Amino acid sequence: MTGADLAAVHAVRDHTARALDRVRHGSRPPADALAALNEAQRAAPAVAELAWNGEVVTTVRRRPGSPGARLSAWLAEAAAELLTDPAVAKIRQCEAGDCVMLFLPARPRRRWCSPARCGNRVRVARHYQRHK
Ligand SMILES: [Zn+2]
Repeated sequence: MTGADLAAVHAVRDHTARALDRVRHGSRPPADALAALNEAQRAAPAVAELAWNGEVVTTVRRRPGSPGARLSAWLAEAAAELLTDPAVAKIRQCEAGDCVMLFLPARPRRRWCSPARCGNRVRVARHYQRHK
């Protein structure tokens, strides 16, 4: 991966984050973020490549282009699926102060991206505050 590849991937991440921040609250996403995600997919369109494996016809979705263009397109497609999934409204930000993770809660009352990691850290910090 070159610097340009990495920049393309980071741009998709940033556009996804901006769109997601609005969409998960039921608001209209920035038009330029949606346009950039569309453009990232258009830069390396997926083709269902056909082959014969000796018994049956197989297909694998492949994209042309540089590693950055291909990865950006796959990520932008995943972002498109996420942004249009009704479950997007249930996505939450982790409540641990120093964590930037978003997560889809398996249970309605879940507060941390990972109960084992952030949940435990918050509980340990609270315990320390109480017994200091
Ligand atoms: Zn977290």
